[in-house]
Amino acid sequence: MSDAQHAVITGGAGFVGSHLVDSLLDDGFRVTSLDNFGSGCPQNLAHVDSERFDSVEHDVREPFPELGDVDYVFHFASRASPKDFASHAVEIALTNSEGAHNALAYARDHDARAIPASTSEIYGDPEVHPQTEEYNGNVNVRGPRAPYDESTRFSEALAVAFRQQYDVDIRTIRIFNTYGPRMRPDDGRVIPNFLSQALQGDDLTVYGDGTQTRSFCYIDDLVAGIRAFADADLEVAAGEVINIGNTEEIEIRELAEVVIDALDADSDVVYEDLPEDDPQVRRPDITCVKKLLDWEPSVSLKDGIERTLPHFRDDLGSDDY
Ligand code: NAD
Ligand code: UDP
Repeated sequence: MSDAQHAVITGGAGFVGSHLVDSLLDDGFRVTSLDNFGSGCPQNLAHVDSERFDSVEHDVREPFPELGDVDYVFHFASRASPKDFASHAVEIALTNSEGAHNALAYARDHDARAIPASTSEIYGDPEVHPQTEEYNGNVNVRGPRAPYDESTRFSEALAVAFRQQYDVDIRTIRIFNTYGPRMRPDDGRVIPNFLSQALQGDDLTVYGDGTQTRSFCYIDDLVAGIRAFADADLEVAAGEVINIGNTEEIEIRELAEVVIDALDADSDVVYEDLPEDDPQVRRPDITCVKKLLDWEPSVSLKDGIERTLPHFRDDLGSDDY
C-alpha cells in the first residue's frame, strides 16, 4: 500500500468525475472511483494507466464497500441532464439523498474531508441575478425538475446536519453549467446537443425563443476550482458553500450561432417547445470563491468549444466532417 493520500470519488466514470480522477492522479493521489455506469462509462477512464487507481462498480444508494484509509470523499455521482429528470426521477432523487448520506457517513466514519457536488439548479428559476450563495432560490417542488433540484437541496441540508452533529469537514460546490470532452453526444444537455447536431449537419434545436441565458464553464476551470477548494486549509474552507462557474452569460439562441460559426456548419436553427420550469436566466456570482481561493475561470466559451470539438468528432466518427 502506498503512502499517497487516498481520494474516493463517486461518479468517477462520469464527465466531471473522470476529469477529477485525472487531476488527482496527476498530483500523486491514490484514487478509487465508485460508479454504477448509469450515465458514465468505463471508456471515460480507459486511458488511466496507474497502479494508484481503482474503479469499483457500485451504486451509491447502497452503503459503500470498505476501502481502507480515506482522506477525501468527493461525491459527484448523479445524473445531471434534464433529459433524465423524468425517466430516472426516482434514481436521481435517491442518489442525491441516500447516496449523499452514504458518502457523508463514509467521510465521517473515516475521518475524511467530504466535497459534495451541488448545483446551480438549487436556485431554480432565479429571481436574484446573478445568483449569490446567500440567495435561497426559487425551486418548484411540484415541477418536473424537483427530483434533481430538491434532492440536491436536501443533500446540502444533510451536509449542514453532518457538520452540526458530527463536525465533519464538508465543502460544498454549487456547480454552474459546465461542458467539455467526455460529455456524451446523447447526454441531452445543450452543448452536447448543439455540437452533435452541427457535426452531423442537422438543425440545432433551440427550446423556447432562445432568449433564456446560461453561463458556461469549461471543465478544466471547474476542476481547478474543485481542487483548490478541496485542498484549502480547514479554517479557510470547512463548512463553506461556494458557486463555481463562468460569468460569461449568453442567450441560448446566441450559443447556437457560436456553435454554427465554430464549425462553419451548414445547419439552421429550429425552435421547439420550452420545457416546463426551464430557468430564464443563470449566472454565478463568484465573488466568494475569488476571495476565498483566488480562483477564477480562464477559458472563454469560444476556446472551450474549440477544445471540446475533437472529442465529439471522434465520438461521432466524423473526422472527415
Ligand atoms: P454525468 O452523468 O456525466 O456523471 C455522473 C456520474 O455519476 C456517471 O458516471 C454515473 O454513472 C454516476 N452515477 C449516477 N448515479 C449513480 C449512482 N446511484 N451510483 C453510482 N454512480 C452513479 O454528469 P456530470 O455532469 O459529470 O455531473 C457530475 C456531478 O456534478 C453531479 O453530481 C451533478 O449534479 C453535478 N453537476 C454537474 C453540472 C454540469 O454542468 N456538468 C452542473 C451542476 C452540477
Ligand atoms: N436547450 C436548448 N436546446 C437543446 C437543449 C437545451 O435550447 O437541445 C436549452 C434548455 O432549454 C435550457 C438551456 O438550453 O434553457 C440549457 O439546458 P441544459 O439542459 O444544458 O441545462 P440546464 O441549465 O437547463 O440544466
